[in-house]
Amino acid sequence: MTKKIGLTNQLISALPLSEQRDVMAVSEQISLSFEQILRARDEAVQHVYFPTTAFISELVVTDQDECIEVRLVGTEGMLGLNLVLGDKHAPFHAVVQGKGEALRLNRKDFLRVLKNTPKLERLLHRYTYVVMKQMAQNIACTQFHTIEARLARWLLMTQDRAGNDSFPVTQEFLSHMLGASRVGITSAASNLKKNKLIHYVRGEMHIIDREGLRRCSCSCYNADIDNYKVHIHKIKDLHV
Ligand SMILES: [Zn+2]
Repeated sequence: MTKKIGLTNQLISALPLSEQRDVMAVSEQISLSFEQILRARDEAVQHVYFPTTAFISELVVTDQDECIEVRLVGTEGMLGLNLVLGDKHAPFHAVVQGKGEALRLNRKDFLRVLKNTPKLERLLHRYTYVVMKQMAQNIACTQFHTIEARLARWLLMTQDRAGNDSFPVTQEFLSHMLGASRVGITSAASNLKKNKLIHYVRGEMHIIDREGLRRCSCSCYNADIDNYKVHIHKIKDLHV
């Protein structure tokens, strides 16, 4: 087990240095692998994760095994907000979408550090609010926006979290992520490919034209960024 302060998570970076040290003192840096299952819904949460290069999907799975992504958690976020809200059970399934590193705290240490570092608690309350708005935005997005626009948004969000123009993804996985049919995803991906915005070969997605993808994406992509900036990036005084 190694402990390292070099890797950054934007939430932890938003804290005063003394509180960053308190969090890091009980964190371990771990590697997460592609498609690793971190937890199932209703399972008692043993750890929280602050991704530093990895990213994680939270998914809802129905009793008919239909599946849709609720949110994507990368270096901007944290997995385990249910503990902040006082419930130890995971609300969703969580699967690693992009391999990489994360800071992990066990439940007991996290709750202790949360209690003793008030600015961390305030920050995570704000982050919870951001996530609630993201989820509401996702409901509107799924209901009102085209699969092509939603796919463009998802690819941009994934590229942001991957920190890379290429990442592995299958069309089956995309259909689960977006709650759309395989046929719909294939058609939308073909259009993006035809317009030279992406290249997709053997399970590897390559983003060719990010600006073109932004034009193709629905407004939800910018709404998410603005939401995060207003409530997290611009935090000057966590006493508010
Ligand atoms: Zn949308």
